Amino acid sequence: MEDLENLKLKVKENSFFARLARIILKTSNVAMVLGKTIHLSGVKKEEFLQDHSWVAHELCHVQQFKENGYFKFLWLYLLESYRNGYYNNKYEVEARQAGTKAAQEWRNLT
Ligand SMILES: [Zn+2]
Repeated sequence: MEDLENLKLKVKENSFFARLARIILKTSNVAMVLGKTIHLSGVKKEEFLQDHSWVAHELCHVQQFKENGYFKFLWLYLLESYRNGYYNNKYEVEARQAGTKAAQEWRNLT
């Protein structure tokens, strides 16, 4: 995860893509990653950044994009979702674990 510091990460509020995901997933707020940009809908950037577990989850997706390459990862992600559904998608499982781990580490610090 260290080399994430060298990436030019962006956070985009009121994103069209995140809004689409919100409609599909039927949730009130969504953060989704496309490449190096975290797209938000229904949540403010400040609010999102305060949720360390959530940020770690999305950073894990940034890492997955980086490891697989942009279009290859999009394809693999869709394939996983198609085969296993959103919740059991292995990329989501990995990102959830990263989120849980970050929350634990944060609790240990405070
Ligand atoms: Zn995710």
